[in-house]
Order: sequence, then structure tokens, then C-alpha cells
Amino acid sequence: AGRAISDAGVIGLAVMGQNFALNLASHGWRVSVYNRTYARTAETVERAQRELAADDTTASGSVTGFADLRSFVVSLKRPRRVFLLVKAGSAVDATVEALAEVLEPGDIIVDGGNEWYENTERRAASVAARGLLYVGMGVSGGEEGARYGPSLMPGGSREAYQQLAPLLEQVAAQVPGSGPCVTYIGPGGSGNYVKMVHNGIEYGDMQLIGEAYDLLRGAVGLDAMAAAEVFASWNAGALQSFLVEITARILRVPDTSSSAASAPALVDQILDRSESKGTGLWTMTEALRRGVAVPTIAAALDGRFLSARKDERERASRVLRGPERLSGTGHASELAAAGASPGAAGGVAETGPDTAPERVAALASGSVRASASTSRSDASAERALIAAIEDALFCSKLCSYAQGLSLLQRASGEQGWSLDLGELARIWKGGCIIRAQLLERIEGAFRRDPSLPNLLLDADLAAEIGRRHESWRRVVGLAASLGVPAPALTASLSYYDTYRQAVLRSSQLVQAQRDCFGSHGYERLDDPGRRWHTRWLSGG
Ligand code: NAP
Repeated sequence: AGRAISDAGVIGLAVMGQNFALNLASHGWRVSVYNRTYARTAETVERAQRELAADDTTASGSVTGFADLRSFVVSLKRPRRVFLLVKAGSAVDATVEALAEVLEPGDIIVDGGNEWYENTERRAASVAARGLLYVGMGVSGGEEGARYGPSLMPGGSREAYQQLAPLLEQVAAQVPGSGPCVTYIGPGGSGNYVKMVHNGIEYGDMQLIGEAYDLLRGAVGLDAMAAAEVFASWNAGALQSFLVEITARILRVPDTSSSAASAPALVDQILDRSESKGTGLWTMTEALRRGVAVPTIAAALDGRFLSARKDERERASRVLRGPERLSGTGHASELAAAGASPGAAGGVAETGPDTAPERVAALASGSVRASASTSRSDASAERALIAAIEDALFCSKLCSYAQGLSLLQRASGEQGWSLDLGELARIWKGGCIIRAQLLERIEGAFRRDPSLPNLLLDADLAAEIGRRHESWRRVVGLAASLGVPAPALTASLSYYDTYRQAVLRSSQLVQAQRDCFGSHGYERLDDPGRRWHTRWLSGG
């Protein structure tokens, strides 16, 4: 038998596990690694030798590979801390079962995969019989994050978390003035659940950015390179975030396979079918099950589903009527001509491709006055529209976060998790895919009032939307009139407008209809709590 020398073990050495093991080692921890297929273990050890040797601050850190599970386990100091980064689902079951045979009471299993939270709760209960502690830990930040600092969302045994904290606090992303991007999330499968909703919010963010991009192309008439400049400038303001930053960078990448003199943007060559792996769908399923409205996330998922129907869309494009799309560049002068003509401002013409510039001008007319100089008017109309799209994206993004956090709040109450939403916003400020400057303000909102029922009720954020909502509305209206699909921007605005009604007339009518055909009864505004029934169709 070997000696217990390692501080932690990692099982599953694909993208995430390999990088996570190196991250631990580069913070000076001794790590044992194991993978079902040995080749990956050998690869990880080799990579560690290369990468850690170059870094003398990690003198004591090391990665040791094992070909069998038993000697891997024996190499770990007790209580053993074993991180799993294997494919979620049955692979985790198989690994946990095998591991539970060799671990001893007090040892800790941490599943770092994107796991369904109820699977974690089931496994935690099953290994508890052997005295093992179990943690389901969301890991966000992809490959880079796993290697240099992810956002970590561990939930489950609090006792286990105490044992893990010294490691996790070092390997997590560090945000100056805010600490490491890790916290004890809560009991049960709450860590997986929070990661799932994080991914749902990520879906919403990506779709919203996609729609803003489509508007920059289809309504403003920018090419990909010019759109990249806009995203880069947004990234210097309130929209600063990882996803906006990479968007600017992605849009600048040329298609090097092109033989054209100036290579077109690679993004224009990509097959327009979005894929998804499941966490977005889980978020939706949970929202439906718990009765929480998440329309922006739903629109993002619907967008992916519709994108997958490429053949049908091609057929539909030939038969379904609507405004023609503006063709990329060359649109600026039309915009200027329309903007400069007093007749165009405010006037929305009938349908047809040639009216699109007038609609753009009409949109911008709130802030653009006809100018003697056509080109000046053109440029300022364009600037006004771009600023309006920025407002629309900001407000919509806030609504999307509000929806995700409201799902977390509902689940927290129903599961008894006592989630601290301010802490969640804090650990999402670094490392993860949805990291954004806005999270600082979201954190502030929940620190001021931890029981805030909805993010939109925070006075600071409500005032911010108040300053921006008019341009948000104009952008959504423009998208509809130009025929540019903007389901998530539109869904966010509808959410906002529905949420801010003290009395919903549509719901009054729905209640009346339900009572009319099904005798379901209704309550009165002036007498809530008491059930009324009316014979709606008798008489009249
Ligand atoms: P993955 O492709 O999800 O899984 C591959 C790993 O699982 C390999 O180590 C593989 O071993 C092992 N495995 C598969 N079936 C197994 C079985 N029946 N028994 C034992 N081991 C089995 O790897 P990944 O992309 O690194 O992701 C790991 C986890 O992190 C997943 O839950 C994923 O959803 C989550 N995650 C991934 C990312 C990302 O950016 N990739 C980001 C966040 C979270 P073999 O080498 O023997 O096949």
C-alpha cells in the first residue's frame, strides 16, 4: 500500500477535470488524479510537469497519476477530498458507487459537473449511509475558468464545505475588494440548482446580445466589424461583461478560408443553428413546475429551437410575408435622407422594403432634429439608434436576471435552502460566463434588502430602467416594424410592463371567462377572499 500524500483527488480528466487539477496544483496543493481511460491520466501528469515547472511559486504543488481507483484513494490524506468532473448522469452514479466502496467515513465527494440537483440529493442520501459527505458544486467559467479561476457554487454538507474552503477559496476567481468567487450555497442540491439557473441566465444574455447584434446589422445597417466597435464601446460602460467583451472580439475575426481581397467576417459564414445541452431546458422545466415567469429565458430557448429548423425556415422565408431585411451596408445615406426630410419624422409608412429607413428615422426622431447637413443628421441618427439599442439591452438584461433570481427565490423557499441572493451575485462577479459589472448593483440591491421579492423593485435599478425605458420601447417597436426578430428583447419588455400593472385587465377578463364556462368563481377587488359566481350568459 502507498502513502497518503495528496491534499485532494480529481476523477474525470476531460476538459474541466484536467484544468481543475492543474489549478489546484498551481496553488501549491498536492493532487492525485484518476480517469477511467488511463491515457488522459498520463496526459494530465505530462501537462502538469510542463506547466507547473515554469512557475516557481507552485514549488510544493504536484499532480500524481494513478491507474487504479484503490491506489488513488489510498494516496489521499484524510478526510479525503475527491472532486468528480465526469460526464453528468449515469457516469457519476457509476463513479460514486465505485468510490463509495473504497472511501471511509468522513471522506468527502464533490461532484463538479452540471448535474440535475435531485440526482445530487439522491446520491448524498445513499452515501450518507456509509458516513460519507457529499457536495454538488456548480463550476462556471469553462476551460479557462477551471484552470485560472472559476466561479464555484458548492451546495450540500456544510461540514464538508468547511474542509473544502481552504482549497476552494484559492482556486476560485478572485475579485479585488470582493473576495473569492465561492461561498457555501446551501444544503441539498442547491449548488447544482444555482448553477442551472446561472446557465439559464446565460442563455438569456446570449440571446439578448444576439438580438442587439441583429438590430445593429438589420436596423442600423452596420457590418460585423462596425458592430464589433459598438460592442467594444458598450463594454466600457454599464454593459461591461464577459459576454459583451467576447462578442466584440468574435465579430472581428475574419474568415481566413475566404479568397476575397478583404476577408468577410467569420461569423457571417456560420450555419445558423444553435445547439443546447440541457441546463436551459432544466431551468425552464423548473420555472414551469414552480409557476415562476421566466419569459426572457424561454425566448432564448425558443430561439434555439426555431434556429434548429433551418429547412423549414428556408421554406417559410419564401412564403411568409413581412418587411424585407435591410441589406447590410449602404443604408446610412438612406437613413440620413429620411431623417432630414421633415415629412418622414414620426411617420410610419405602410409595408414594403423601401419604408424601412423611414422607420429608423422615425425611431430616432425623438432625439434627432432635421439638420442642414445631411451627413451630420445621418451620423447622429445612427448614434441615437445605437444608444437606444444599448438601453434596450441593458433593461432587458436586468429583467432576465430578475427572472432567474426570482426562480431561485421561489425554489429556496420551497426547498428550505435559505439562499443568499446577494452572495450569489457576488460570486458571479468573477470567473463565470455571466460575470458583468451589473452584478455589483444586483449584489447591492439584495444586500440592502435580502428579502426583495423581485430585483426590479430595487429603487436604484427601478430608477435606472425609468431613465432608459422609452428607448427600449422604441427599439422593440422598431424591431417589430422592420421585421427583425427580437423575441427576448420583446419578452423582457412585456415582463416589465406586466409586472408593473397594479390591475391587469387581461386577468380580470380571464377570471370572468373561467367563471363563465367552468363556474370556477372569482373574487372582487372590493371584497377579496370571498368567492363570487355569476351566471354570465343568462339574460342579455
Ligand atoms: P465530459 O465530456 O462531460 O465528460 C468526460 C469525462 O467523463 C471523461 O473523463 C470520461 O472518462 C468520463 N466518463 C464518461 N463516462 C464515464 C463512465 N461511464 N464512467 C466513468 N467515467 C466516465 O467532460 P467535461 O466537458 O470536462 O465536463 C465535465 C463536467 O463539467 C460535466 O458535467 C459538464 O457538464 C460540466 N461542465 C463543463 C463545462 C465545459 O466548458 N466543458 C463547463 C462547466 C461545467 P473517459 O476519458 O474514460 O471517457
